[in-house]
Amino acid sequence: MAKFFEYQGKEHFQKGGIPIPEGMVANTPQEAEQAAAKMGRPVVVKAQVWAGGRGKSGAVKFADTPQEAGQAAVDILGMQVKGLEVKQVLVEEKLDIVQEFYAGVVINSAQDVRGPVLMFSSEGGVEIESVPREKIAMLNVDVIKGLMPYDTLNMAASMGVKGKILRQVADIVYKLYQVFRKLDCRTLEINPLVLTRDNKVLAADCRMAVDDQALFRHPELGIKIGREFLKEPTEFDLIAWSFEESDFRGTSYVAEMASSEEVANGGYVGFHGIGGGAAMLGMDAVNKVDLKVADFADTSGNPTASKVYRVVKLIMAQPGIEGYLLAGFMMANQEQWHHAHGIVKALREELPKRPGFPAVILLCGNKEKESQAILKEGLSDLNARVEIYDREHVYDSSFIGGRLKALVEEYRKEQAGASSR
Ligand code: GDP
Ligand code: MN
Repeated sequence: MAKFFEYQGKEHFQKGGIPIPEGMVANTPQEAEQAAAKMGRPVVVKAQVWAGGRGKSGAVKFADTPQEAGQAAVDILGMQVKGLEVKQVLVEEKLDIVQEFYAGVVINSAQDVRGPVLMFSSEGGVEIESVPREKIAMLNVDVIKGLMPYDTLNMAASMGVKGKILRQVADIVYKLYQVFRKLDCRTLEINPLVLTRDNKVLAADCRMAVDDQALFRHPELGIKIGREFLKEPTEFDLIAWSFEESDFRGTSYVAEMASSEEVANGGYVGFHGIGGGAAMLGMDAVNKVDLKVADFADTSGNPTASKVYRVVKLIMAQPGIEGYLLAGFMMANQEQWHHAHGIVKALREELPKRPGFPAVILLCGNKEKESQAILKEGLSDLNARVEIYDREHVYDSSFIGGRLKALVEEYRKEQAGASSR
């Protein structure tokens, strides 16, 4: 899911006619102070991170003066919320809240629903999971018929909303669903939707995530990598994503784990796992022998040889790595010869550029015999430290890690000898 910051989601609310508080994004305490001065009234300073529960973590602070707003930004910027670093704050007019509601739409992918579910509750401001079921109005929206304005009026009324604000609340919930549909969201939430002392109803928060599979329809959203990706993508990450974007056969995932400066310090290998479990055992293998991974790669779900080839080329393109590990720690049920072909082609191009380079390859599972033959025939004549293993070592992370370490050490000695000569 492509996640968005609160301020980004609120921009979409505004376009969709949902009232939001006046606010400005700040990257520094100075900017936060200026924003508060410009607004000329008490403000709330809110961390912009892909995590909820900011209120409880001290990542939402109130400020009566611009100086206080600057200080709040000093406190919040750089802090970690659920492991994510805060790089921006939203400075917003402080609302005089008299009541908090919850409104949200999520995709329920359960077999009997498979569609959007609209939810409304008059218990807002707390996590919706902690609100009793009977205090939440829920509606499975029929995507063909769509939502009717009276549907949201009924929902809000059933939760006790009445009087002048009923129409405002119902209208916002109706518009929320329209924004959800327009942007192909998986989640779009207002928590809290607030009623202020002067009888205005506004979205005080926003949580928004868009379906990865629909991102191609939304170039305006500017999402560079259409999958869960919790850091700012590097050039390496973007190249990796281009493989996936241009070929949906099988899965390839590659992410940069260390900068080239870190890798230059030594002890890093190019890491290539096949499937989640195998990748975990592969990481164990590397950790056990005190090596580190320069990247995290995973090719599974029966990817084509061309996809595997591109992944191996990218792994090998990392300057300073001292080895390549294919961590096929499982009896993969995909046809392994696609991996074998892709790896052979990539390594035949890359290994001649670095004589003696270590490559430990563990591959087993469906079409194992054929795959082993392809690997052995394709890589045996190279001037490199290539070792190829099969099911005999399928779960043996100590052995595989040990072989990788031994070859890396030999290679290192050889390199040191070559450079001192
Ligand atoms: P979250 O904890 O990450 O969901 O962050 P929210 O944006 O929902 O803020 C947490 C809580 O702070 C809300 O539930 C509100 O009770 C409170 N809050 C946020 N903005 C305002 C505001 O402008 N005025 C007041 N009085 N409270 C606010
Ligand atoms: Mn919230």
